[in-house]
Amino acid sequence: MNVFSLENSSNCLSNKKFRTLSSISVVVPAYNEALSISKTYDKLIQVLEGTGVPFEILFVDDGSTDDTFEVLQKISVKDSRAKLVKLSRNFGHQLAVTAGIDNTSGEVIILIDADLQDPPEIIPQFIEKWSEGFEVVYAIRNSREGESLFKKLSAKFFYRILNKLTDIQIPLDTGDFRLMDRKVVNVLLQMPERHRFIRGLVSWAGFPQCGVPYIRSERFAGESKYPLKKMIKFSMDGITSFSFKPLQFALNLGFLCSGLGFLLILVIIILKVFTTLPIQGWTSLMVVILFLGGTQLFIMGIFGEYIGRIYDESRKRPLYIIEDKCNFPNNI
Ligand code: UDP
Ligand code: MG
Repeated sequence: MNVFSLENSSNCLSNKKFRTLSSISVVVPAYNEALSISKTYDKLIQVLEGTGVPFEILFVDDGSTDDTFEVLQKISVKDSRAKLVKLSRNFGHQLAVTAGIDNTSGEVIILIDADLQDPPEIIPQFIEKWSEGFEVVYAIRNSREGESLFKKLSAKFFYRILNKLTDIQIPLDTGDFRLMDRKVVNVLLQMPERHRFIRGLVSWAGFPQCGVPYIRSERFAGESKYPLKKMIKFSMDGITSFSFKPLQFALNLGFLCSGLGFLLILVIIILKVFTTLPIQGWTSLMVVILFLGGTQLFIMGIFGEYIGRIYDESRKRPLYIIEDKCNFPNNI
């Protein structure tokens, strides 16, 4: 049975089939998070020890330029459960998460941000839902504290647009904070695409999924690593990976413009043949040229977004490069 709840946990699986968990892997991508990472580690340890299940925490240093790696190294020397993967440069959040997932061994994998915006306290609820039979348990942001009105509105708008544009249902107001069973992670790792929109890929994979609502708090320290430019790129990755509708829109707009052009020709012929009215000159011509020129550039831009991604994927470069690893057996 494939149950997919978009709203909250209340309409989760009814045929509960309890199972027990053997191990947990938590993946924490970190880019310039030296100020928050120790606190995140402390909180995670507290919550994970409380579950009584063996665990590993896999930190991914995504090419930080501050002391994140040094702080994480100190942690991993003290605690063998804290593993560390250092990427050779900044590959971006989604690829850092992928690098983390690739190096986990737990029965379930939990993705969580390093800035404590995702509260580790709800991990036990994730595990409870997993034990009931859900293969993916994602967190739904019921409210977002300490984020700008622009960020809140743009995120709300984006998830709704995305759902209109795509055929798969991506749960509204969710991020990557989630628990996934190894089965789902194996599917995810078979997807070689570079422009990853992980929350969409997980929805695409199917399996019983459900949501747990939470209040997204402020960043513990530092600033968001998702400036407007990265947010736009991430949104475009989400749309282009899951929808051809922008291309269909280009086609439809093309039809509309040629239809209008054809009508205009008819009007001009009629005016010329049946009336003595002078045909108006350059103003209307400029308007049409500018309108059509703008429309064509816009459509070429849409094509460009897809073509650029096709080119990127076709080069088949590795998704990420690992520079160093700590606390892995033989460091392989
Ligand atoms: N992050 C990363 N690489 C990047 C950008 C962000 O690993 O290039 C990490 C970041 O350290 C954090 C998580 O991804 O743990 C989410 O980023 P952020 O908190 O800046 O995003 P926001 O919560 O503002 O959307
Ligand atoms: Mg954050």
